[in-house]
Amino acid sequence: MRQDIKSMTLEEITGALKEMGEPAFRGKQVFSWLHKGVRSFDEMSNLGKALREKLEGLYYIDAPVVERKQVSRLDGTTKYLWKLGDGNCIETVLMQYKHGNTVCVSSQVGCRMGCAFCASTLGGKIRDLRPSEILDQVLFTQIDSGLPVSNIVLMGIGEPLDNLDNVLRFLELVNHPEGMNIGMRHISLSTCGVLPGIRRLAELELQLTLSVSLHAPDSETRSKIMPVNKAYDVEQLFACCHEYFKKTGRRISFEYAMIDGVNDSDWQADLIAKKLKGMPGHVNLIPLNDVAESPLKPSKRVRQFQQRLESHGVTATVRRSLGGDIDASCGQLRRKAMEDGKKGF
Ligand code: SAH
Repeated sequence: MRQDIKSMTLEEITGALKEMGEPAFRGKQVFSWLHKGVRSFDEMSNLGKALREKLEGLYYIDAPVVERKQVSRLDGTTKYLWKLGDGNCIETVLMQYKHGNTVCVSSQVGCRMGCAFCASTLGGKIRDLRPSEILDQVLFTQIDSGLPVSNIVLMGIGEPLDNLDNVLRFLELVNHPEGMNIGMRHISLSTCGVLPGIRRLAELELQLTLSVSLHAPDSETRSKIMPVNKAYDVEQLFACCHEYFKKTGRRISFEYAMIDGVNDSDWQADLIAKKLKGMPGHVNLIPLNDVAESPLKPSKRVRQFQQRLESHGVTATVRRSLGGDIDASCGQLRRKAMEDGKKGF
């Protein structure tokens, strides 16, 4: 079976080429072509025909195609629905901020975490994305839009820490100076709280920003809306976050989708402040996006909750909503396309 060459590191490609009797600089040439978005070995014009044919026999180059694309008239936010090599579809969102163009990428086809408010998990997990398929979202969004991407958030469909090996390899690829060269400090990774993954990230001491989807500071509420809490309880999650901060010195960002009558009481703000003591956390309050399949409704107490957190000295911001006219939030476009009866989702 042919191998996915774009998921290979520069060292691996160089090693493989050396075994074919090629000089070391060939590795760099092939790697940089791949990271420019070529769709075939024939496009690698500084390689001889014999070598191109040899590579073609051993490896394949995948590239996603645009299945749907929606551009917000409000703020230019662009949502891509990509069709992968096997017919599955994934979403990527491009947001234009003052600090740079940011791409929100998916890490899995679907998700198995089962959060009650999230559209991405409704059909379960189909499969993990390969490193190249995560990278391609950044690469081809940049190529298609013509906008240079400077920031990445791993906050699309899927749980990145449920596909950690591939995500780590993606980070190595996208960070590489011969590739897209996007700095770790410009990358955020969001998790629903898969503790072994957070511990592994802490060990690696990567310079990325860790976001934790908290959504409730008490076990009873959190278990109701996030099944992951039954495996990794919120008390352990807070302890793990404190450890992470101690080890890395990096401030953690906590996401908190405000749900009417579920997690928006003052006592819950007080409890968050208590649990974050000793750690410079930042709470990002997200007005809940209505998901048609869910009975949960957006909270009307976002500002009060924010003030309550700030009265305890906790930094809290309210996330500005972008792309409100284009189904830009989690899993909504893929969901819609599935409902439209398209095959292969
Ligand atoms: N699996 C990862 C990353 C993907 S979700 C995680 O759970 O963090 C990205 C963020 O959007 C998470 O904080 C998630 O909880 C949140 N989210 C999902 N559905 C939402 C909705 N309907 N309204 C607001 N935020 C939502």
